[in-house]
Amino acid sequence: MIRVQAVAPDSLGAALELIPGTELLAVNGKDLEDFLDWEFLTADEHFVLRARLASGEEIEYDVERPEGLPMGVMLEPPRIRRCANHCDFCFVDGNPQGMRQALYIRDDDYRLSFRYGNFATLTNLKPWDLARIVEYRLSPLYVSVHATDPVVRRWLLRNPEATDVIPQLRWFVERGIAFHTQVVLVPGINDGPQLLRTLTDLYGLGSGVLSVSMVPVALTEFSKHALVRQPTREECRAALATVDDFAARAVADRGVPWCYGADDLYLQADVALPPAEWYGDFEQRENGVGAVRYLQTRIQAARIEPEGWRDKRIGIVTGTAMGPLIPQIVADLTQITKAHFEILALENTLFGSSVTTAGLLPGTAILAALQNRSDLDLALLPAESVNDDLLFMDDIEAHALAAQVPMPVRLSYDFADALVGEGVAA
Ligand code: SF4
Repeated sequence: MIRVQAVAPDSLGAALELIPGTELLAVNGKDLEDFLDWEFLTADEHFVLRARLASGEEIEYDVERPEGLPMGVMLEPPRIRRCANHCDFCFVDGNPQGMRQALYIRDDDYRLSFRYGNFATLTNLKPWDLARIVEYRLSPLYVSVHATDPVVRRWLLRNPEATDVIPQLRWFVERGIAFHTQVVLVPGINDGPQLLRTLTDLYGLGSGVLSVSMVPVALTEFSKHALVRQPTREECRAALATVDDFAARAVADRGVPWCYGADDLYLQADVALPPAEWYGDFEQRENGVGAVRYLQTRIQAARIEPEGWRDKRIGIVTGTAMGPLIPQIVADLTQITKAHFEILALENTLFGSSVTTAGLLPGTAILAALQNRSDLDLALLPAESVNDDLLFMDDIEAHALAAQVPMPVRLSYDFADALVGEGVAA
């Protein structure tokens, strides 16, 4: 059973008089378990919906769905599938006390992988899930592979039951499911010959594996440092050399690099990033792969008018990971706007200094950096650091933060979104 949370006006759901709280029980006699059932089973032009109203009355609707008319039904959030693994580098274990409850949930959910591009390990799939992924063609999925040697993978996931991933992926590939994959690089465990084996095995699955990203392990002050460490510069360089070998082979065979290093891997290796064209459609951008080049592309494509920005002093708040990379982006912004940009690459006061991504910055760190900066005309904050309720990681609300700093602030994903349109008053 799934429950209605909201119904959009002028939608089929509104025409059926579905209201928040209505329980959606079955479509064409098939019980509804979650949003996937709902979306796939109501995609037909004609279906029978069984629902239970708030009064307890059960109703059957014989629905004709005109082409193009949305159902307009927002469902209550699904219950997240919990992770069966215990990786030494698990981000959740690295969280300090006192953050949003959701941050303590270890999710490993193929449904979110399909819908939002979250990486899943597929180690908690039941036979029913396998059939469902194929039936609904949930493709592409995003899979954390880490290593294809089953012993090494089980070690990394700390899960003696973890699936042998290559046969599992092959089974899916033979049924038309494709994958974006990632390897979190843990030095001494899955680098060197293991990395070679992993990439060889994944490459051998052919076009069913759309891409592989290589991401250096990220640890916090609260992680299990006795068990796992971050790679050195030389280890990052060695991993990039392997990435390059496979990318060169893939470009020759398939016309795309296929194997990508995360921006952070280049940063830690102290190696220049590839050009934007290298990343194609930036399909693993959300995983920090090609993020810098993507931003540069967005800025170049945006129609930012210099009027209103000339000589303004603009602070760009970011994490320390982007700090060294952002000057490349700022050079483009300065040329277009003639404004003066200052990069505020903040230490993460919540997770510790080794968590460097802008999206995990707490509001308190941003507030501390901005509250005495009356010399700034504007501050751009990373939009990905707040959730849908505009809360930062430490539950500080964006408007409350804005009220405590002396300059206007704008949330921004790519700078261009905050700088297109009107500037700010001096
Ligand atoms: S797969 Fe590993 S890193 Fe991911 S949530 Fe589970 S334990 Fe944490």
